[in-house]
Amino acid sequence: MDASLFASVPGDSTQPNDRAIEISVVVPIYNEVESLPHLIEAIASVMQANPHTYEIICVDDGSQDGSAQWLKQTARERQDLKVIILRRNYGQTPAMAAGFNYARGRVIVTMDGDLQNDPADIPLLVNKLAEDYDLVSGWRKHRQDDRLTRLLPSKIANWIIGRVTGVRLHDYGCSLKAYRCELVADMKLYGELHRFLPALAFIEGARIAELPVRHHARKFGYSKYGLGRTLRVVMDLLTIAFMKKFLTRPMHVFGVFGIISIALGTAIGLHLTFIKLVFNQSIGDRPLLLLALLLLLAGVQLFCFGLLAELLMRTYHESQNRPIYRVREVIGGCASESE
Ligand code: UDP
Ligand code: MG
Repeated sequence: MDASLFASVPGDSTQPNDRAIEISVVVPIYNEVESLPHLIEAIASVMQANPHTYEIICVDDGSQDGSAQWLKQTARERQDLKVIILRRNYGQTPAMAAGFNYARGRVIVTMDGDLQNDPADIPLLVNKLAEDYDLVSGWRKHRQDDRLTRLLPSKIANWIIGRVTGVRLHDYGCSLKAYRCELVADMKLYGELHRFLPALAFIEGARIAELPVRHHARKFGYSKYGLGRTLRVVMDLLTIAFMKKFLTRPMHVFGVFGIISIALGTAIGLHLTFIKLVFNQSIGDRPLLLLALLLLLAGVQLFCFGLLAELLMRTYHESQNRPIYRVREVIGGCASESE
């Protein structure tokens, strides 16, 4: 184990107590009440067998099945559990972002709350991270989900995401991942972006590794996702591709098309004017005239659209501080506060 992974960061001396935690295990929870007792026990027993101090952070994402009540009660009884209750169901990504925000460990491990990930893999991920990586992503080599509805779409998605982002992982969708805390500290997450964290981190220069992990079939409850999420993931992917290429200069994309369109329209217009003036032929009934007008109009529109996008990007950058979730309550971990 690389001792430097848990060595204090320069400038951290203001929070000596916070640094006492070495590993934070972050788990988003949405209606998982039956799994919860097994989950907390399993994580705790793995972490207690390890030399590192740890905390478990469960973020209740608006559960309606009593998960929040169970978590609140248990957080009052256990030192190692901190519970964040969100005001409503925001989705897995905002729930994870909330967890990151409250996590105090030098290393942050994320996993699902449905016992599909195996806590026994946590030490393996952390050891791999210590080999000088910033992010280690789990790879469910023998995934226990439906072949047609889950495995096939995710295989295609992983391939496309790898091509678009340049980070080729086998399994973007695996929640079991370990991060150095610096990496997630200022990540701005929204939509279904948590799965793209390796790609986002890579753009920021992170060193990324992948490690095969165990995967179990869901014992309790049911998956919260269907086709809707696949579509949202695709849209997020398009956004990332767009961000990567055009975020800084959208005008360079739309503006160029606009200018080409205007140039073509003008050329055809000049050609028609020439025919009218030199040969004195009528041009009013020519389809070419319509095309010239269309191209000119579309060109001007595209150009203005580029300008607008440029303005939007500025607003986007400036609005990055907007929180994507609201916390109702925080219990445990020596803190108890309401908002
Ligand atoms: N989850 C969440 N909010 C949601 C949906 C899911 O916090 O709106 C949690 C859920 O409780 C689980 C994890 O995210 O811990 C993954 O969800 P699920 O197991 O349903 O996804 P799958 O494994 O089927 O992809
Ligand atoms: Mg699951």
